[in-house]
Amino acid sequence: SQSAMDALLEGLNDAQKSAVTSPANVVQVLAPPGSGKTKTLTARVAYHVNHERLQPWNIIVCTFTIKAAREMKERIKGFVGEKLEAKLILGTFHSVARRFLSRYGQEIGIDKNFGIADTSDSTAILKRIVARHQYTVEPGHARSRISKLKAKGVSADDFRATAKNVNDNEFAMVYSSYQEHLKASNLLDYDDLLVRCVDLLRKSPSCVSTIQAVLIDEYQDTNNIQYELMQLLAQSTRRITIVGDPDQSIYSFRSAEIKNLHRMRTDYPESVVINLENNYRSSGCILNSAMAVIEQDESRPQKPLIATHGVGEPPTLRHLVSATGEAKWIIEEIKRTKTLAAGLLSYDDYAVLIRSSHLSAQIERALGQEGIPYRMVAGTKFFDRAEIKILLDYLRVVSQPEHKHNDAVARVINVPSRKVGDATVKALLEEAEVKKVTLWKLLLDVARGRRKPESKVSAQAQKGIEQFVNVILTSRERLHPAEGENCDLLDLIYHVLKKISFESYLKQAHKDNWQDRWANVEELVNQAAQMTTAFANGEDILDDALPIVQGVEQREDTGADILSKFLANVTLSSVADQEGGEVAQVTISTIHAAKGLEWPVVFMPALYDGSIPHSRADDHDEERRLLYVGMTRAQGLLYLSCPMKQSGQEKTKLSRFISDKKIQKLFSERGPDLAFKRSTIPDLARILRRPCPADTDLKTAHSLLERLEDDKYPATREEMDGEDPTWGASWGDKFNSSGLSGDGPKQ
Ligand code: ATP
Ligand code: MG
Repeated sequence: SQSAMDALLEGLNDAQKSAVTSPANVVQVLAPPGSGKTKTLTARVAYHVNHERLQPWNIIVCTFTIKAAREMKERIKGFVGEKLEAKLILGTFHSVARRFLSRYGQEIGIDKNFGIADTSDSTAILKRIVARHQYTVEPGHARSRISKLKAKGVSADDFRATAKNVNDNEFAMVYSSYQEHLKASNLLDYDDLLVRCVDLLRKSPSCVSTIQAVLIDEYQDTNNIQYELMQLLAQSTRRITIVGDPDQSIYSFRSAEIKNLHRMRTDYPESVVINLENNYRSSGCILNSAMAVIEQDESRPQKPLIATHGVGEPPTLRHLVSATGEAKWIIEEIKRTKTLAAGLLSYDDYAVLIRSSHLSAQIERALGQEGIPYRMVAGTKFFDRAEIKILLDYLRVVSQPEHKHNDAVARVINVPSRKVGDATVKALLEEAEVKKVTLWKLLLDVARGRRKPESKVSAQAQKGIEQFVNVILTSRERLHPAEGENCDLLDLIYHVLKKISFESYLKQAHKDNWQDRWANVEELVNQAAQMTTAFANGEDILDDALPIVQGVEQREDTGADILSKFLANVTLSSVADQEGGEVAQVTISTIHAAKGLEWPVVFMPALYDGSIPHSRADDHDEERRLLYVGMTRAQGLLYLSCPMKQSGQEKTKLSRFISDKKIQKLFSERGPDLAFKRSTIPDLARILRRPCPADTDLKTAHSLLERLEDDKYPATREEMDGEDPTWGASWGDKFNSSGLSGDGPKQ
């Protein structure tokens, strides 16, 4: 109806509207950050459903991160309703591929209960292969090389055929042993999910015969295999919408191909290209400084980007003595601006974006000391935490012990300690490999005393193995409940926790922080509970929507299916700890993981050469784009900073991307003097589309801060003079002549 259509298009500009309603088969929206690409894509999905009457289970939407997928689902719900939204095939490329493989994988010989090997699983497998054959290649390096080959669609056999020298030959061997190992263990690694899905869709196009539309966000970061997947998913419709921005291409280390933008035009000559030019996200000053950074790339075509907000506060560029000092300063600025904004800002509105995950340590510590809650988007992700890995390993073994999940078995057989030593495990592993049986099978025989193992197993270890086998077997019984009863995932998890006395194990092993660890376990139980409820209500779990293809039977979910779905879901949602419930939290994220997102206030610390551009990066243009992506996440306030020394005490040099004098002029040296410019908070409120705090509240906040300011906020000049007088000269005369530093607040 007309009014529903109006609601859908409300708040979009003309160019956005034309993209949403375009009758063209292939629509490409190429536009700069904050121009509403994702917003437009979201509205187009809703338009397909509400106005073109496409069935949601025949629409595929690919996002780059899980967080982006969630946000998009939320927004789409508002237009099409919860029921229809849940039926969309929406998720990351990996999760979309996973869905097709678990439903139709059998057609290409993939067991439907396949497990997913995460990065550390893959590395562990490679470590063993390398050690066994005494290869020279470094396992982590081998993993990323294999990953790159897979992204290009080069199989182990392909590679072997082109091997030119001894090293290549050795690597070809590692690659193929690795694949064999995965296959024998019924595992797929992340890249396989894409590669095998491509195989599937080539062989059985009928899986996607009903698909009516394919939509892709962050298109600039797709790699070749993802491009192929897109083509195959859309093979029966050719209805494709992509949105992206070449200036934000930052994933070439994962083989993203900027060439795919051109490829799209040749492969789909009927494409309609729509440009968006207005930025709705950031203040004018922030936008200007970001543009100045990206425009240093002279090979890049000039493009307009028009600010729709006022100029706002100039972004801050600040030098600090040490990394610790930098972290402290950030925390002070968070507290100061939050107080000054008199209720306009909460901790949720702050993000600290870092180039490499190790840089978070200082910030985390400083936040921790002040008791400021924060969430980590990169770093120790929830599912990488030791206690969660242990529990998931147990569940993996319970899920399919006979499937050569040797790694998981080996990792947990002695956790908690059952006096089965490392040497015994190693010997048993080798024996299993030689006999071509699974480690589990061997353990079962040992436990039942059916066969003496060739490896030496002490009486103590024998007993330990019996205990372990008992845990797994009794847990497996819960997978097959009596007739008429449902398999209860929670029940199973509780059983495992009790059997291994996990809580007391954590207490013993981690005296100082076992409570936090146990809280993580409880969080996992919460997630299992949510999933169980979804099942009980007859809903398909989380992201399991798929096209309804006639003639293909919908399979019943058995206990084993439920568990394997749960495990697949947790492996793919390794950022699920982001939603911290009701407490407002500062976000710490890598710049890479912040793509597509926005925050009112953004800090980018450690901007020195070697950090950005990274010392190991050879594509400096990409490093510059990375800085650009980070800066364009900020809506109202942006802070760049650089410590004079790294945490390891090495001296630093300001990043070359911001050391140009012209660029430095765009920044102010102190944090915004919010207290002294009456328009700042109202400006910020306008950008954030939030009500402005009352005048009296602002005044109270200001006077409170005026009193605190002097001791809390030391002058830059003094800090630097005290430390290293020569260093200050390197960042320009502006600093020495500006008179901004050391003189107290600007009037
Ligand atoms: P990025 O390249 O960083 O992913 P994007 O182009 O996807 O950015 P969005 O995230 O879709 O941009 O939009 C940026 C912000 O601008 C969002 O807060 C969005 O709600 C807002 N926005 C987009 N279009 C409009 C519009 N026409 N009017 C007002 N606000 C808009
Ligand atoms: Mg976006």
